[in-house]
Amino acid sequence: MQPTLSLYNTLTRRKSPFQPLHAPFVGVYLCGPTVYSEAHVGNARGPVVFDVLTRYLRYLGYTVRYVRNITDVGHLEGDADEGEDKISKRARAQQLEPMQVAEQYTNLYQGHMEALGCLPPDITPRASGHIIEQIEMIQQIINNGFGYEVNGSVYFDVPAYNAAGRGYGKLSNRVVEELLAGSRDNLAGQDEKRSPLDFALWKRADERHLMRWPSPFGEAPGEGFPGWHLECSAMSRKYLGAEFDIHGGGLDLMFPHHECEIAQSQACNHPTNEAQVWMHNNMITVNGAKMSKAVGNFITMSQLFEGTNTTLSQAYSPMTVRFFLLQAHYRSTVDITDEGLQAARKGYRKLMNGLRLLEKLVLPEGAEPAADTTAADAELRKLAQDCFAGLNDDLNTARTIASLFNLLRKLNGYAANLATLAQVSNEALTEAVTTFRTLVQDVLGLRDEPRANVEDLLGLTLNFYANAKQSAAKAREEGNPDEATKHYGEIDRIRTALKDQGIVVKDTKAGVDWAYSEE
Ligand SMILES: [Zn+2]
Repeated sequence: MQPTLSLYNTLTRRKSPFQPLHAPFVGVYLCGPTVYSEAHVGNARGPVVFDVLTRYLRYLGYTVRYVRNITDVGHLEGDADEGEDKISKRARAQQLEPMQVAEQYTNLYQGHMEALGCLPPDITPRASGHIIEQIEMIQQIINNGFGYEVNGSVYFDVPAYNAAGRGYGKLSNRVVEELLAGSRDNLAGQDEKRSPLDFALWKRADERHLMRWPSPFGEAPGEGFPGWHLECSAMSRKYLGAEFDIHGGGLDLMFPHHECEIAQSQACNHPTNEAQVWMHNNMITVNGAKMSKAVGNFITMSQLFEGTNTTLSQAYSPMTVRFFLLQAHYRSTVDITDEGLQAARKGYRKLMNGLRLLEKLVLPEGAEPAADTTAADAELRKLAQDCFAGLNDDLNTARTIASLFNLLRKLNGYAANLATLAQVSNEALTEAVTTFRTLVQDVLGLRDEPRANVEDLLGLTLNFYANAKQSAAKAREEGNPDEATKHYGEIDRIRTALKDQGIVVKDTKAGVDWAYSEE
């Protein structure tokens, strides 16, 4: 029996044992990407962290429904309520349909997440596919007195909501009066809003706006588009219910995005703060600096995997990146550097070598298990149990990885001298081996990735083939038929082995070549 999983809740600012609302079911929602450009490495952290969380919850026996949305409408430039829609802007610049832009970057994002070993979410809802649900939510908010319509746009009334004692700012620990003082001058150009804290639930589309849907707001046809914060409240409600277990996202989304999500759900008289537990992963810096396009230290996923970003000296594989991200606790910042990534590559490979080692841990034939294995069993069991302690302590993957290395050190010791396996019982060894394999592969989601280049290996094999041919010819010339037969045997073995891989060896005048078998 594993000790309970504790999670840090941003809302309560406390770590507490996780209790699902309707065990064994657990609903998890993670804010997904806005698909108007390629994801950068910072965007990968949330998906990797919450992938491990959902994997671990499943390991613990829960039935998880994991929702990660795609924002394909409503996210305006500067994350505020003014300016052009990010996707529309890109579409206009490239003379594409906005949905073409969204599709292109959605596919790219999902490909990168798959490469990083993130299991596909159970549901990937798109904001543009849930306009009806969003309009329905806006109408409820207006009916409850927390929203107002101006010129076909609808805004959330933060002061009214706050006056009703609902506590706007409770997630991000902000005080409305202070927010107001800080934003007194920010109402310029936003004169439809009654208060600078109000945020858009629906925006009327002007003539230039490409993405628009009919709505009941303003004069018919009331065409417009939803505000960015609304989609997550509407889609999480549709797929996980008005109250669900865990809502995740990057720390940068805590305010205003998540604060507004809670306000919207509460304004619909939902019983909780949308989710019971709010979890936020921290940010990623590059060589100690915040990632920004202006500074030029912005690293996209492709650049990272292909080694085409000048900030880094080489390419890093998706599994190295996954290990790198998991080597830190999700609530700490992570700094991307060449040294850090290289150390991660080393650590990742060490774990992969560990997996290969497990197969070899067998007591040599004829060796007898010791009569009393109690002490050694207890030591091995403790090392295995320790691996869960980190995960249970607010998903501290850094600690779990350190514990896995401790366990591996012990297992390496047995592998170096298999006879010493007699000190432990079969059961304790099986438990330790299973723990290592399950945590590395199923929970941390680290998988072996092909490290060798197939072309290079083929070239190497053909060299062996050419050398064997030369040696056979030489032996024949020297009148040494036994030696020649030995080399012909080798030539046959190479031909057969390659044929099994669908490769035919060709002896040409120019030398040895290969072709795909056409059989
Ligand atoms: Zn969201």
